[in-house]
Amino acid sequence: MISIDRSVQTADLGDVRVANRAVVLGHVRRHAPCSRADVAARTGLNKATVSSLVSELIEHGLLRETGLTENRVGRPATMLVLDGARHVGLGLQIGADELVVVAADLSGERLLTWRRAFAAAPAGPEETVRALAALTRRAVTRVTGAGRSVLGLTVGVPGLVDADGAVPLAPALGWRGVPLAAELRRALRDPGFPIGVDTDANLAVSAELRHGPYAGTADLIHLTGGLTVGAGLVSGGRLLRGGRGFAGEIGHLPVLTDGPRTPGAPACRCGRRGCLASLAGVDAVVRRLLPDAAPDAPVTDYLPEIDRIQALARAGDEPVRTGLTEIGRHLGCAVSVLVDLLDPEVVLVGGHLATLAPWLLPAARTELAARALAPPAGVRLEASTLGSAVSALGGATAALATVEAGQLPAV
Ligand SMILES: [Zn+2]
Repeated sequence: MISIDRSVQTADLGDVRVANRAVVLGHVRRHAPCSRADVAARTGLNKATVSSLVSELIEHGLLRETGLTENRVGRPATMLVLDGARHVGLGLQIGADELVVVAADLSGERLLTWRRAFAAAPAGPEETVRALAALTRRAVTRVTGAGRSVLGLTVGVPGLVDADGAVPLAPALGWRGVPLAAELRRALRDPGFPIGVDTDANLAVSAELRHGPYAGTADLIHLTGGLTVGAGLVSGGRLLRGGRGFAGEIGHLPVLTDGPRTPGAPACRCGRRGCLASLAGVDAVVRRLLPDAAPDAPVTDYLPEIDRIQALARAGDEPVRTGLTEIGRHLGCAVSVLVDLLDPEVVLVGGHLATLAPWLLPAARTELAARALAPPAGVRLEASTLGSAVSALGGATAALATVEAGQLPAV
């Protein structure tokens, strides 16, 4: 399993009961409905321990009895499932042209998905924090009004995120040194639940790992499609963060060099030229494929443009199809680097890259096959099917991670 919050892992290493709670919850999550005897038999914990842990987990609203019985020889047993009724995790996502909030319960059910049109880059950090706080307050009101408690909130950001939940640099947003977790906590006036910040890509791949069609894949990558392209990397079943948490910034991989052979590689927000983000980011794609749509003011809603590109591609518009093939090749070039470095089984693309996948991915796969040294037959390059709120969903899941790691909720 993935633990988003590293402090939980290290703090509880010695606590057997905490670890055993996590084992029981994890088992029920994967095998529900199951009986106490099943849990004992399959986890190696003795029956008395399981019985005691299950009572505690039921009392804290993490498990519930379904009343179903096993249809097999022997005494009928009460079956257990995760209890979604009491606790909720919230996830927020800062997109290219929107803010998204998702609430999900422990059983994995998504309770709400709300979007608000919002362009964080021109708005700046202060206004973005205010808007995030307003969206959070509405979601908290809805969730607590339904008798549930919020266990935590995690925000996904397209940029670098440090261990304190600050954003040292996010070229897509034009942010530098923004203490996002602290500012949001202040704006929410210490709401009584933990607030975490992670990269949108890490949260997206966590959502894939839990909820997507390739859930449980040990070597899995999700590439976000927004103003930049971030990589959420799972290798050997674990999220790869790197030494300072900055791993996965594939968006600024130089795909085109601005040399004599490729003059005029497009400028990137990071100050360099020819980065993947400057070729395959949503604004770059719109600029490249709909040159007539270039507005004076910054575009704050990319959906109509992406819809138009999709319609033109479907209608066989030659310049659009050629452009998509070229962007697909750039994407495939970046994916080949990831494939040779990490040898993933599956690479999923999200956002506009998923919407435009029918035209991007064939060219990307060809480029991948031509560039990667590893035989490409073993790698699947596909569109994510979890939708555009995937990072917020991952954030809601991450917010439940402390409970899943065996901590009892304070509420
Ligand atoms: Zn760049």
